[in-house]
Amino acid sequence: MIRDFEYFAPKTLKEALTLVDKYGDDCKIIGGGQSLLILMRQGLVAPQYLISIKGLSELSYIKDTKEGLKIGALTTHRAIEKSPVIQKKFSVLADMEQRLASIQTRNWGTIGGNLCHGEPAGDPAPVLIALKATLTTTSLKGERNTAVEDFSLDYFETALEPGELLTEIQVPAVPPHTGTAYTKFNVIQSDLATVGVAVSITLGSSDGICQDIRIALGASAPIPMRAKQAEEVLRGKKITDNLLKKAGEVASTEAQPISDIAASEEYRRELVRVLVVRVGNEALARAKA
Ligand SMILES: Cc1cc2nc3c(=O)[nH]c(=O)nc-3n(C[C@H](O)[C@H](O)[C@H](O)COP(=O)(O)OP(=O)(O)OC[C@H]3O[C@@H](n4cnc5c(N)ncnc54)[C@H](O)[C@@H]3O)c2cc1C
Repeated sequence: MIRDFEYFAPKTLKEALTLVDKYGDDCKIIGGGQSLLILMRQGLVAPQYLISIKGLSELSYIKDTKEGLKIGALTTHRAIEKSPVIQKKFSVLADMEQRLASIQTRNWGTIGGNLCHGEPAGDPAPVLIALKATLTTTSLKGERNTAVEDFSLDYFETALEPGELLTEIQVPAVPPHTGTAYTKFNVIQSDLATVGVAVSITLGSSDGICQDIRIALGASAPIPMRAKQAEEVLRGKKITDNLLKKAGEVASTEAQPISDIAASEEYRRELVRVLVVRVGNEALARAKA
């Protein structure tokens, strides 16, 4: 049962920040409520004050700029999935969104809410880490930026500071000869990942050498993580099947998965090993295209 709370629906960001600043630990922000309401129903979270930011249209946008993509934190998953500019220039994001939850949840849940929930099996974080995205958080004191890879601190714990709201996600323009891919393994369609893997590869224009690489894992550790040792197996080399296989093996030892109802630790390590090769091959093919 949900405990009683006082509800606010501010009309502007300034108003929302003033409320968050005033009520501190006694309040909770609610975006689409797709994750928070479950916790409230289970009695795991019982805020005295609930501040709905869903009406802040100033935080719902997708902008294609010279530097890259800017996504307002209140943009829904469905809007990202259906955005023509994202489908064209950042198709990995649209593909990821298409497999996130059901259409009903995507219609209401927001990208900002997903990241702030801090679920280690969430789909957007690994993809955004592979794309080198950063987050802007805003409080009455001003704004600060954090790389997505540094935003999650522990299970369901993020780098959000008291009084802050996540306001924007920035994805830098993708360099030429770059391919990015993501997949998740899940038993039930539209469910969270048992393991998710995102890989981004940038090749040299003439020599086809791997100039830059990111391998990001979801549901493989307390936080979405980069498999940095596996990246080093490929960086500066011509990527071959054998090297990718080696990178998969290294990533599976770097991962820190747990055993839970969805899968054992061993099974998750095996998934990481297999998916790094599969997604790596896909990213490589896109980089060469
Ligand atoms: C049936 C179901 C299936 C799902 N499947 C998937 C899946 O396959 N993959 C996946 O990744 N997710 C999945 N989810 C999770 C869900 O889609 C996301 O977590 C959701 O997008 C959260 O967004 P929201 O706006 O609803 O956040 P809310 O539930 O409103 O908030 C979540 C948390 O973030 C905080 N918050 C929200 N917005 C902000 C902000 N701008 N600044 C600061 N704090 C903020 C809230 O205080 C709360 O702690 C699923 C959820 C459901 C119900």
